[in-house]
Amino acid sequence: MSIGTKLFMLLIWIGTLFGIGIMIFSRGFLLNRLEIQQKSYCTGDSDHSGESIEGARQSCGEHRRYSKAIIIVIDALRYDFTLYNETLDNKSALPFQNKLPFLHKLRSEKPQHSLLYEFIADPPTTTMQRLKGLTTGSLPTFVDAGSNFASAEITEDSFIHQLHRLGKRITFMGDNTWESLFKGQFSRSFPFPSFNVKDLHTVDNGVIEHLVPEMAEQDWDLIVAHFLGVDHCGHRFGPFHSAMGEKLLQMDQVLRSVVERLDDDTVLFVLGDHGMTRTGDHGGDSREEVAAALFVYSHSILHQETPDMKSVQVASQIDLVPTLSLLLGVPVPFSNLGSIIPELFTLTPFSNQPSSPAIKNWPLHVQSVYNKVGALRTNAHQVNHYLQAYSKISDEFPRAQFALLQDFFQDAETAVKEVLQSSANDEIRSYALLQRSEQVYLQYLNRVKEMCRSMWARFDLTLIILGLAIVVGTCLTSYVLLTHNQNFGNRVLLDSALGTLLKIIAVTIIACLLIGLIISFTIPGLQAHSAILVLTIPAVGSLLNAVVWIAFVSTEMKISYLFKFLTYSIKTVMAVILTLTYAACLTSNSFVINEGYVAAFLTHSLHLVCMCSVGSIFIQSKSSKETTRKKTKTEKSRDIGHFLTNPGTVFALLVFAFHLCVRFSSLFLACREEQNPCQQSELLRPLGTFSDDTGSYRNYRYLMSVASLAFIPASLTFWLNKQGNLNGGAAPVFSVVYALPIATVCICLNWGLQALPQKVLDNLPAWQQVLMPRLAYVMLFVAFITILWNPLCIYLVPREETKKKIQVDYPGEGESVVPKLFNHLKTTWKRNTRQGKLASDDSQDEIRETSPPVVYGLATVFSACWLLLSASVALLIALLLGDGLAPAVLTMILQMIIYLELYAIIRRQQLAPLEVVPDLHHLGMYQVPWYAIATWGFMSSQFFFATGHHATISSIRFDSAFTGFHGDFPPYLYFIPGALITINTFASQIVFAVALPLLLIWPFTRGKMIDRKKDEDRKGELGLHVSNRELRIAFFQIILAYILYNATQLVGAMVSAAIHRRHLMVWKIFAPRFVFQGVSFMVVMVILILLYLLLVKIDRAVSNWLQVLFQDV
Ligand SMILES: [Zn+2]
Ligand SMILES: [Zn+2]
Repeated sequence: MSIGTKLFMLLIWIGTLFGIGIMIFSRGFLLNRLEIQQKSYCTGDSDHSGESIEGARQSCGEHRRYSKAIIIVIDALRYDFTLYNETLDNKSALPFQNKLPFLHKLRSEKPQHSLLYEFIADPPTTTMQRLKGLTTGSLPTFVDAGSNFASAEITEDSFIHQLHRLGKRITFMGDNTWESLFKGQFSRSFPFPSFNVKDLHTVDNGVIEHLVPEMAEQDWDLIVAHFLGVDHCGHRFGPFHSAMGEKLLQMDQVLRSVVERLDDDTVLFVLGDHGMTRTGDHGGDSREEVAAALFVYSHSILHQETPDMKSVQVASQIDLVPTLSLLLGVPVPFSNLGSIIPELFTLTPFSNQPSSPAIKNWPLHVQSVYNKVGALRTNAHQVNHYLQAYSKISDEFPRAQFALLQDFFQDAETAVKEVLQSSANDEIRSYALLQRSEQVYLQYLNRVKEMCRSMWARFDLTLIILGLAIVVGTCLTSYVLLTHNQNFGNRVLLDSALGTLLKIIAVTIIACLLIGLIISFTIPGLQAHSAILVLTIPAVGSLLNAVVWIAFVSTEMKISYLFKFLTYSIKTVMAVILTLTYAACLTSNSFVINEGYVAAFLTHSLHLVCMCSVGSIFIQSKSSKETTRKKTKTEKSRDIGHFLTNPGTVFALLVFAFHLCVRFSSLFLACREEQNPCQQSELLRPLGTFSDDTGSYRNYRYLMSVASLAFIPASLTFWLNKQGNLNGGAAPVFSVVYALPIATVCICLNWGLQALPQKVLDNLPAWQQVLMPRLAYVMLFVAFITILWNPLCIYLVPREETKKKIQVDYPGEGESVVPKLFNHLKTTWKRNTRQGKLASDDSQDEIRETSPPVVYGLATVFSACWLLLSASVALLIALLLGDGLAPAVLTMILQMIIYLELYAIIRRQQLAPLEVVPDLHHLGMYQVPWYAIATWGFMSSQFFFATGHHATISSIRFDSAFTGFHGDFPPYLYFIPGALITINTFASQIVFAVALPLLLIWPFTRGKMIDRKKDEDRKGELGLHVSNRELRIAFFQIILAYILYNATQLVGAMVSAAIHRRHLMVWKIFAPRFVFQGVSFMVVMVILILLYLLLVKIDRAVSNWLQVLFQDV
């Protein structure tokens, strides 16, 4: 096994350990609720379905008031959309205000027929989670948010299931999510694709077409109509766009025509499944996202009270489930935790046969309380039954609280029984008792809800600690491996040491895997955890064994290298301190909220420290040179041109430009809900969301985006051309010259298309809407393939005659070949620069006789390939991030390049004293110091925020999944939206990980502004190729160091999530922060491991090329 393979195996091992650690931690931290498959049944229900009846039996029909119901779901109907403010005139009203006048008309003209509620959703506020809650009455848990793209059938009891079971007919139309949730339970359905958020009308027009005709048919008991236009309008334009007003007015029309055709025996529910933020997104738990609206209406009287139009009435979304079930006379679903909306049960139900005729003689207000208590009692019985069943399969309930709840329940029961026995005689006493039991039932139901909410955010501390321990242990092992490799002395022994280490790890993993399997299959109690055991035992075992071997057994790898940090420079110490501070600060909620600013600040500070510590040396050396120069040419120092090209000035300008970039990037920060006051940049809104009267602003902005984007391929072409990489016909050359510019044009055209007025865009044929982004994908893919196929951008001009001149045997890998080749190329290059570069067809014969071979682009053979790769990735993320963020992408690339230039200067300056010992100097060049890694990491955090992201679910840009796609992905293609959203979210982490090797490569070609004359530098990046071994070790180190940097952040996020698991803000701040960190860590690690393979491929290609060259000779 070569050293390259060994290092690769080590990387895989470390990566897997981190993966296992994260997975186990998540298992303990993001717990799931257990689903109970039991169903509710009516008393006296015969067993016609063949299932054994063991669910809760309820007296059905007792509270039935309607025989039919219509549910109209207007997706993302926020509560304030439904309010009507008479003091506003049409002009001053916001686009979403006063756009549902018909609701207002019903409320004011028929107050006893209508009710409006603020309809509070349980986060996560994604449509599928909400539909689950709205039909089953159960609470979601945090993990559920991720399963939105692969919606699974609901197996828990729901009112849809109950109606279907009782032979009622359900007609459905709208969002096809319902179809996948309730397969085969609708007697007629008109599903429409829901994924394409850019499409505002297909679903709505489809529903409108079918809704009224279906109402006229008499073969239904429940109609569900789900409109998506308001939600899609929010995603696309936000609530403050005129399109929202148009959409809401359309919904108003729909409601009007539905209400006109209602009969007296039908109840209408109009509801939103969640709200939306100021930007039109949803998913999180901000007030604007959870506050949806519920409007209930019926032609027959709904309730007796006259509600105050001004006061806000609040209901929980799961309350719909028992309310609807009891109103229609079907059993409340088994797992429901909602409580009925009491106002709807004040009237005497159809089938009321009071146990005592005296009740009929009671005054109306007593009767109404009696009716309410009856419904509450059925509800409470069902909830109690569910609690009992749940506590049988799980011991999660806190015992004391459970007992308390049972007391509450019994208390209410006794009061009700007393009323039933003695009611007739004492009306006043009965009224008091009834009111009391109403309160107690309501309290009981609310407490159960609260207890379950807190319970399903429960944690498994063993798994949390285990996961954390694996991650921390892997961090320490990586650190030891890193410091060991940095020790120059033991290189000879490294091979055998690594071999032994890998053997030990492999043997331990196999042994532990067997142990894990045996344990999990022989001990019955542990079988449920077999997956965890099979993963953890090998992970922990191999980790422990490796540590023990490194610490005590191995003579080659001494733990004493740990103490090498005592000799670190001030820059490194500062970088380590800042890295650790960053990780530690993740435990503070205000830090996480303002992390965007802090990341930029950290980049500033670390960079300044490095600049100051190097700048001082630099100024000294410069001034000493200056003084010598002054003695000879005094007049030159006053020349402005000389001043501008002076290395000191250039250096200072670069530093200034770097800090300017950092400042500029903060323009693109998005606002978190908790940041108040906060003004979000207009640039974060796509052009299409601006109203049409902002013509000139839109034009300027479009031009700016196009210019920013075009700068990337243009500067790449310019640079590679200057370095001579664009000669000849190698495949990557075609990518640079054709594929990237075509991709850029396609992206710009796509942005232009998206900025068209919405109506024009919607009328375009489907293929035209996706053509441009798809073409761009293809071009970027071509660029990527060419890099894989032939990563060398070099061109050898053949010179038949002169080949004899380098008659040397190829000596194999090692030091001697490159200097020989270079000395040769150098001399010939100098002699023939003019001829070689201007070689035209006419003069070629002539030159062929006189000149030796000329190789173009050899000095930048590594960086050319890497710059091409980075530019392709940058274009891809620019496409996904959207037009407004193109300047942010450009800033990111500029800041990266400026940093590379500065770093190259610093690094060369730092290593200058070593130049007397070429071997040491070379080894120094292979090292990438920690301060560079840390700055790189800080910059990647900085631009995560500076591309409009935050570590919150609501800031994920789900619409990026539709760049170039229509939306209706078949299940086997679900990875496409997933991948696109991941690339969009972790754009900056991806770009910085891909460009990471430039930190190693750059100092070889650049940064010689101080002593430009050195001949040795002409080697350029071929200096990297001097030894295969050293290059692979250097690459392993830089990757491991960057993984370690990310892992410190990961540990910070995990520790803070674990510490704050009972914190008020855990689901708002710390849990999302951990989830984001975990995903970004895995993404970065996979990229880095692939990059390692790519670098090895390039290096092999270079050595093959050299071999061929020498063989030809
Ligand atoms: Zn929705
Ligand atoms: Zn939505």
